[in-house]
Amino acid sequence: MAHLLEGKPIAERLKEELKKEILNFDIKPVLASIQVLENPACEVYIKSQKKTAESLGIDYRFYKLDSNISESKLIEFIQNLNLDNSIHGIILQMPLPSHIDYKNISEYIDPKKDVEGLNPKNLGKLIFGKAKILPCTPSAVMELLKETKVDLYGKEVVVVGHSEIVGKPLALLLLEKFATTTVCHIATSQRSKLEEHVKQAEILVVAVGKANLIKGNWIKEGAIVIDVGINKVGDKIVGDVELEEASKRASWITPVPGGVGPLTTVMLMRNLLEATKLQI
Ligand code: NDP
Repeated sequence: MAHLLEGKPIAERLKEELKKEILNFDIKPVLASIQVLENPACEVYIKSQKKTAESLGIDYRFYKLDSNISESKLIEFIQNLNLDNSIHGIILQMPLPSHIDYKNISEYIDPKKDVEGLNPKNLGKLIFGKAKILPCTPSAVMELLKETKVDLYGKEVVVVGHSEIVGKPLALLLLEKFATTTVCHIATSQRSKLEEHVKQAEILVVAVGKANLIKGNWIKEGAIVIDVGINKVGDKIVGDVELEEASKRASWITPVPGGVGPLTTVMLMRNLLEATKLQI
């Protein structure tokens, strides 16, 4: 039976470290959070970010913009925050309205204030292994892997999902550790090759957003399984992996909720500290 790889205790430990570090700062770090579109999941994230920020001594400044705002006006708003020396980090909450394309916006967040690590300049630094600000969820996955004490060198790692915020940057972080990294995506499933790849994985990370996409009996005996997915099924939140069945085969497995989620917000705050240090 797998050990449960819970994010909360790690998050609490990291928060204590961040709190101590903030106490040594001469200033209070300030995080600007911009919401354009109202969305129930987003409200939950904002509440959790605010709570975590305040518990660490971070000033969380929330800006709700009109959901009809044009792309150019949003960029102008961000550029004003870039110029504001009292702001150390900027997060743009997802989702955005359909008339705004995040891919056009991310480059306007000053790389030094880009606490999500999604400005192309910060993402580019990942290629060279030089990024100081890492995308939050991939960074949370790496923290969870660290907790298992697994040596990634040469390990067969399969990442399912190739989004810009999770799968792609995570693959780069894994390659940096010399993991043999395979990235699966929609085309892998369409060619019915997903099961074959998953069965090879000594470490499996799934970030898709489809409940029970990964069958428990596909998990390699002794594998480490990190389930990033968040899906609402009835009134329950579940991941992308069949947890119960997978737990019988894996050596470590993250619960959903309670695995990756609690760490992601802490990684955001860690990035804010890094951003603050880059500016003071
Ligand atoms: P996206 O929708 O951006 O990406 C999903 C990825 O899965 C895409 O690469 C997509 O490929 C791929 N995909 C879709 N269907 C299949 C399939 N049947 N087989 C294989 N691959 C498939 O989502 P995100 O990366 O933003 O998030 C993924 C999940 O992780 C979501 O459930 C989200 O809620 C959760 N999440 C959790 C976080 C946490 O802190 N716990 C933080 C961020 C996300 P293609 O685009 O080519 O269709």
